[in-house]
Amino acid sequence: MGELLNVEEIFGEKVFTITKMRERLPKKVFQEVTKVMEQGGELSMATADIVAKAMKDWAVENGATHYTHWFQPLTGITAEKHDSFVTHPDKDGRMLMEFSGKELIKGEPDASSFPSGGLRATFEARGYTAWDITSPAFLKEDATGVILCIPTAFCSYTGEALDTKTPLMRSMEALNEQALRIVRLFGNTTATKVSPSVGAEQEYFIVDREKYLQRPDLIFAGRTLFGAPAPKGQEMDDHYFGTIRERIGSYMKDLNIELWKLGVTAKTQHNEAAPAQHELAPIYETANIAVDHNQLVMETMKKVASRHGLHCLLHEKPFAGVNGSGKHNNWSICTDNGVNLLEPGETPNENIQFLLVLACIMKAVDTHADLLRQSASDVGNDHRLGANEAPPAIISIFLGDQLEDVVKQLVETGAAANLKEGGKLQTGVSTLPDFEKDATDRNRTSPFAFTGNKFEFRMVGSSDSIGSANTTLNAIVAEAFCEAADILEKADDFDMAVHDLIKEYMTKHQRIIFNGDGYSDAWVAEAERRGLPNMQSMVDAVCTLTTPKAIKLFEKFHIFTKTELESREEVLYETYAKTLNIEALTMIDMATKSIIPAVVRYTKSLADTVIAVHEAGADSEVQYEILAEVSAELKAAKTALAKLKEEVSVATSMENGKDKAYYYKDHVKVAMEALRASVDALETMVDKKEWPMPTYADLLFEV
Ligand code: ADP
Ligand code: MG
Repeated sequence: MGELLNVEEIFGEKVFTITKMRERLPKKVFQEVTKVMEQGGELSMATADIVAKAMKDWAVENGATHYTHWFQPLTGITAEKHDSFVTHPDKDGRMLMEFSGKELIKGEPDASSFPSGGLRATFEARGYTAWDITSPAFLKEDATGVILCIPTAFCSYTGEALDTKTPLMRSMEALNEQALRIVRLFGNTTATKVSPSVGAEQEYFIVDREKYLQRPDLIFAGRTLFGAPAPKGQEMDDHYFGTIRERIGSYMKDLNIELWKLGVTAKTQHNEAAPAQHELAPIYETANIAVDHNQLVMETMKKVASRHGLHCLLHEKPFAGVNGSGKHNNWSICTDNGVNLLEPGETPNENIQFLLVLACIMKAVDTHADLLRQSASDVGNDHRLGANEAPPAIISIFLGDQLEDVVKQLVETGAAANLKEGGKLQTGVSTLPDFEKDATDRNRTSPFAFTGNKFEFRMVGSSDSIGSANTTLNAIVAEAFCEAADILEKADDFDMAVHDLIKEYMTKHQRIIFNGDGYSDAWVAEAERRGLPNMQSMVDAVCTLTTPKAIKLFEKFHIFTKTELESREEVLYETYAKTLNIEALTMIDMATKSIIPAVVRYTKSLADTVIAVHEAGADSEVQYEILAEVSAELKAAKTALAKLKEEVSVATSMENGKDKAYYYKDHVKVAMEALRASVDALETMVDKKEWPMPTYADLLFEV
């Protein structure tokens, strides 16, 4: 029998939940807090003091010594600066642990070293963190001790967003306002709030920590920059959903427990397609909490791995030749009285509100396909999107047979009288049940797929924050809702007007619907014919942030100012250049200091053998041929190394962020690939005992 684990009891143990607040706060204070949580506004300082004290008491009872404002700067990860609750001793030398409302609400990290894209010069280093009351505080426990973490937004002195949370929360407010207008039009007078719900399925790789530590590329770049393929990859499909190995299972068990304690609803776990690749999915929740929780999932994955002598790789493409990792961002829109606007119901063809929402989403995604592509790009994701792997870089929507047919009827005749049914699934075995089939099969190659009552945005990279993708989704749909509401609120005949509008939007934007194979070359050509954008690289997508269309969208809904967008552009170009620079320098270092010397030693031993065999009077031709082949490849590697050094020195001398990013993409990256090709060829020739680091076979199959 298994050891008893009371999940209900440990769930949320480390979270300052609503229940704990209710228990610990005076009733009036509690009511004020929940009101602000639900409707926005500010807490009075007196109330904040009471909340802070209750929070601190709870934290200290659970072993906390410090607190931190936990925030999400433009590094893609989280940041924290710990302050203890220690205060000035009184005249008797006694000290009381304290935490004030002011400290809870506002922090001032001297954060001049975070990326700001020119928004702040270092001499104007002031940045503020502001408590996000809608995301619960929690305790982080590790070797540092127990730290009370307060989720916060991070802004500059002049109020510009320097993080991923602030724009996300602004976008949620925009979507709320516009979606409420839509539901009101359909007679819903009771909903007071509409929020996006998000569930992010997180993919990751696990490797042995000892082996990881022998790979400078994994340490510095998070991915292998060299490595010949193992004899076996993922071609047998035997890892996907395969039995979870004991060592991984024990890791997953601890990971779940840690996450449950943090109030993260870890739900699904399985082996993924590539060897050593796995997935974890939580249950969906309000977007900004889902974003925070996804950060916690990533952090916890890494932390628990190191306790198990393992290392968790969140990079989008840690290994060439097998699948990379992404994050499926499941997104829907729900009212506070329980209506999911993306629920088609039994008869979607008659569900006018659903059809209007769908038409608006088609319009939004088609109009802003470029922004959506941008929102899911990061440096690592360039190895997935558009690189013959899930999903393609071209944005399209998958609706499935049933809805696609409804759209087609609406476009052609203005009405959708018929509904394709799923029918019964017959197994052909009398003892197995027959099922009602879903009306639609799954499509695995679409970047934006309707999956029953939500859209699954599959482009986001595994290491990236889901903040940006959800901000963009909320923003573009808010805009479409707003434009629809502007028309419909003025209509004399609502039924007629909504009917016309659905037909108009669906007709105009049907080019964005694609139900076929998103990986095929035929789709690339077809998408081009349809005029859909196809941006191969993150670098190509950066400029979409500051097109007049984007500025108009984001400014209208107060999500980003033009200045904020420009600063983000700059940060992205810089991030790209810096990341590639680290990768290139790591390759140069590894090639110069360990790979080439190892091959040189190997050629020496071959040469000794050739001489010895020859002197012994035998035929040394084979040994000589091997020596000649290895030496030739070594020469190629040496030449490629010199070329890479040259390209890096050109790139580093460049001033302009955009030009520099492009130079890294078009020149440095090409030189990196050439060096890798030579080194990987050498790896297949050289004695394994001489090879200076663990190989793909060691990393992927011996966990
Ligand atoms: P699928 O198998 O289609 O990917 P799952 O049921 O496994 O669907 O769900 C995947 C993720 O989608 C989970 O995180 C789940 O909580 C989330 N999800 C399910 N329904 C919704 C919804 N209405 N809105 C947002 N996310 C959802
Ligand atoms: Mg899924």
